[in-house]
Amino acid sequence: MKERTLSIIKPDCVAAKNAGKVIDMLEKNGFSIVAMKKIQLTKKQAQGFYIVHKERPFYDSLTTFMSEGPIVVMVLEKENAIADYRELMGATNPKDAKEGTIRAIFATDIERNAVHGSDSKESADFEIGYFFNALEILQ
Ligand code: UDP
Ligand code: MG
Repeated sequence: MKERTLSIIKPDCVAAKNAGKVIDMLEKNGFSIVAMKKIQLTKKQAQGFYIVHKERPFYDSLTTFMSEGPIVVMVLEKENAIADYRELMGATNPKDAKEGTIRAIFATDIERNAVHGSDSKESADFEIGYFFNALEILQ
């Protein structure tokens, strides 16, 4: 069954003008773009998105980073989209990311790691709803 996941091209990757290359990798790997927009989050909006991490030591730095410049947010669709996109992204720390993954190619460090992807069906539902209304993802 087709599944949807939320992808974010993070501020580091957009600023480096690598967004197009990431989108090309997504399409070459079988993902369809259901919805897409370029926006800049406020610190509060970034805090709301990463609310599950609010007790983590990296929360303040992460949410400052995520609000420092524009991001590209997408709803992706594919069979097994959540797990397959996590695989294509690579490990959170680019030092551990497999060769050929998005983070291995474009990430700078464990925080400035180029992309986000939902990690479960529950987080995908929350994250898609955080950025897109029902009409925008009606396909
Ligand atoms: N992060 C960080 N330091 C850490 C772990 C995570 O700065 O030690 C940042 C990084 O940008 C990561 C995000 O917080 O992508 C969310 O962390 P998570 O563990 O959910 O990693 P992901 O699901 O993005 O691989
Ligand atoms: Mg995560």
